[in-house]
Amino acid sequence: MNSQFNEDTVEEMNEDDDEDEEETTERDEDGDDEGFSVLSDLPVEKSERRPTCRRCCRPVKVCLCPYLPPRPLDVSTSLYVVQHPAEESRVLRTVPLLAACLPPEKCRVFIGRRFSEERYPELAAVCKDARTLLLYPGPNAENLEDLSADFTTTPHNVILIDGTWSQAKDMFLRNALLRTPRQVQLRSAPSSQYVIRTQPTNMCVSTLECAAVTLSIMEKNHSIQEVLLKPLQALCSFQLQHGAQVHHSKEHLIKNGQYNKRISARAMFSHISSEKLQEILVSYHSVNESEWSIAKKSKDVIVWRKPSEEFGGFLYKTEGTVAESPQRIMDYIRPGACRLDWDSMITSLEILQTLDQGRCVVKYTTAGQLWNIISPREFVDFSYTTDYQRGLLSCGVSVDHGEQKAGFVRGFNHPCGWFCVPTQDSGLSLLNGYIQTDLKGMLPQTAVDTAMASGLINFYSDLRRALKA
Ligand SMILES: [Zn+2]
Repeated sequence: MNSQFNEDTVEEMNEDDDEDEEETTERDEDGDDEGFSVLSDLPVEKSERRPTCRRCCRPVKVCLCPYLPPRPLDVSTSLYVVQHPAEESRVLRTVPLLAACLPPEKCRVFIGRRFSEERYPELAAVCKDARTLLLYPGPNAENLEDLSADFTTTPHNVILIDGTWSQAKDMFLRNALLRTPRQVQLRSAPSSQYVIRTQPTNMCVSTLECAAVTLSIMEKNHSIQEVLLKPLQALCSFQLQHGAQVHHSKEHLIKNGQYNKRISARAMFSHISSEKLQEILVSYHSVNESEWSIAKKSKDVIVWRKPSEEFGGFLYKTEGTVAESPQRIMDYIRPGACRLDWDSMITSLEILQTLDQGRCVVKYTTAGQLWNIISPREFVDFSYTTDYQRGLLSCGVSVDHGEQKAGFVRGFNHPCGWFCVPTQDSGLSLLNGYIQTDLKGMLPQTAVDTAMASGLINFYSDLRRALKA
């Protein structure tokens, strides 16, 4: 019995098993009678628009096959990956890459949350086999490196759980079958090279990395690790070139003082690169005047709007002058403590991650509006500040982020930004904003419009007041 959980917890958690059971049933009716899938059966990414490579399951444009070994690796160890259903729909999956490197019979993938003996007889047999190891860290796990068995003479099986840290933990605790095999962990797990997803600790690396290290140890062949990690390295560099941010593990962030315990360990990256974001904003800035219609006008600020091409709402444009240099104005607008001080809409602001001088991930909350017809919102944005002409551009877009603050609706900013350039009048800058916020929730459009337009006018008056102070 594992010391990490007690019977009560397990009892309580089993109550919603019926629901999970249904899900498994549906999955099986899809033609997966034996309850497992090999690589070729794995559903490919949902976006039908992009053709997908059959071997590596990646979109053809970023196919990783050139980085895969020409022939499947010859190994004696068999891998069994039990994969959380949420994992297969992720954009960045490592298991298909692993499967593509190994003979199909040496890498089996079982998708599900609950694995009963009746429904998964093959997996059950593997779990009960004395030559099976479960790779899952914990107080009861032995270090794989320290085991005296010679895995090259007797072929062994290794079970890996594929999911986020909390999914894996849940699957381990709730499946008695998975607690049957001898539990092992890696003493010398490499610091994850797979930097796209934030890993809970440096010890918690991707399933592919775990498999690579495990196989190298068991097969006594270090080159296996290199071969298996090659497509992963290629995947990372593709992702980084296409706008994903480098994510350090929680451990790394804590060491560097950048980690806040409320950050979820889930994926957190922008789907749009800084350059693309900038390009989008510049295109908004050059939209013909005739396409805009006035939403609200005060004596020194104009707010226009046009239907957004990103979502069902509007793209708002604002214009007004501010008696300050673009540099100082932008210091007030870009994410930071200063913004929280003066912007009456923002009730909390925290920089989750500083990527470099101009790039960060920021989480902020906004106050309720219109007597709380619009309740408080929370946003998590990737923010990028860069030079624009003789001034600056600060732009942002919401990113995927797991946890959500209780009592807040998670809003979504489609590409937004502020241009600030000096005018002919000395000491006067022209400030243009482009905002397209999806407030989410059930809101009457008129309420959103009223709130957005007044909010933007107030933004200028708050900012001017703050700069004068
Ligand atoms: Zn491919």
